Amino acid sequence: MKQKTLEKQPVVGMISLGCPKALVDSERILTKLRSDGYDFTDTCEGADIVIVNTCGFLDSAKEESLSAIGDAMDQNGRVIVTGCMGAEGEAIRKKFPKILAITGPQQYEAVIDAVREAHPITHNPYVHLVPEQGLKLTPKHYAYLKISEGCNNRCSFCIIPSLRGDLVSRPIHRVLHEAEQLFKSGTKELLVISQDTSAYGLDIKYASSPWKGRDVRAKFYDLCQELGALAKTYGAWVRLHYVYPYPHVDDVLPLMAEGLILPYLDIPFQHASPQILKAMRRPAHQEKTLDRIHKWREMCPDFTLRSTFIVGFPGETEEDFEFLLSWLREAKIDRAGAFKYEAVNGAKANELENHVPEDEKQERWERFMSVQTDIAGEKAETKIGQTIDVLIDEIGEPDEDGSIGADGRSKADAPEIDGTVFLRNADGLNSGDIVKVLIEDAEDYDLYGVPAGRA
Ligand code: SF4
Repeated sequence: MKQKTLEKQPVVGMISLGCPKALVDSERILTKLRSDGYDFTDTCEGADIVIVNTCGFLDSAKEESLSAIGDAMDQNGRVIVTGCMGAEGEAIRKKFPKILAITGPQQYEAVIDAVREAHPITHNPYVHLVPEQGLKLTPKHYAYLKISEGCNNRCSFCIIPSLRGDLVSRPIHRVLHEAEQLFKSGTKELLVISQDTSAYGLDIKYASSPWKGRDVRAKFYDLCQELGALAKTYGAWVRLHYVYPYPHVDDVLPLMAEGLILPYLDIPFQHASPQILKAMRRPAHQEKTLDRIHKWREMCPDFTLRSTFIVGFPGETEEDFEFLLSWLREAKIDRAGAFKYEAVNGAKANELENHVPEDEKQERWERFMSVQTDIAGEKAETKIGQTIDVLIDEIGEPDEDGSIGADGRSKADAPEIDGTVFLRNADGLNSGDIVKVLIEDAEDYDLYGVPAGRA
């Protein structure tokens, strides 16, 4: 048998200057590049490309950094500069105009992009430690795609901003590249997540980056459009989670009606009473949500709305709670989870007055769930007799009579949190298949059916 010769891996030379923080930055860059398949050296000789991680704390440190860049240019000539001195890009470029790229401190992704661009690597599954799409904890056919970290909102019950800081959006080309790798590796459903998905790009002023020969803006709509177009070429689904009802969210409904993005929005409303939403300091709480929900359903009749709510928030009166229930009936939220309010250490809401007693929270939670289960049950009933698309999650073992069942999800069901479609006569199907299913029965959030043509 003819043996395949393994290509030599590109070698990255790392010259790391400065304090321990800069050293940790260098280690992070090297760890990521190593997992991509690059080799290393700590000199300029023999390297295909050199990264100089600079220090600019004192004048003497700047001198040392400039001299290290000069040496790297002389000895190698293919140099990327990062670290504290990267903030003075213009001065460096004036002195060394042939430098390949300059990035600032803690811009790991930008450094990695620059290395990949200057010396692309071909993924080789026999050699590389990590698959091209990264390591995943989800089954092969669905994956979460994180588009940003942190949050600019300050909801009174939440401490995420103090733990994770303000919104930091990933550059859009990196998000799209990751999505493409996932689709290539067999992902059939991409679940877009963040703390505030519809705020994507706000922190980076919706900066454009080049993607497949075009400039694409880091903006919620543009992201949805690009992800939808990519998913279409792979016959895959894109589902949006943690969206706040900012006015521009309406713009993605046509993409849903067109079939580019799943007709599904996960919007954590948390409450409906204006007083409680104000006390919660929820984003977009002044938008006329009920009217908008009706409009969304007109624009896209298959539209599914998932949400979460908090019952028993401090100051919630019986009137507020009744308001929430009637809002729920009117909005006909398709899938909803409810949580009894719990004080979180460090949250502002702890300081509010009129905390609701535990037994009252429990009683309200039960009333909420009963209304919601009725709504979900009525909605599920309407699916009986319809033929819908189902993504197969798992194939069961054969029964005593040899028949095989399967579990799957419709476009209206996200993994782990929504309903299941239980299939009979599922032999020959595999997890990750998207099949037409005739719905024969329904119960609460779950549906029962058979692959079309096998009834
Ligand atoms: S609950 Fe509010 S503050 Fe917390 S992450 Fe969500 S939007 Fe941000």
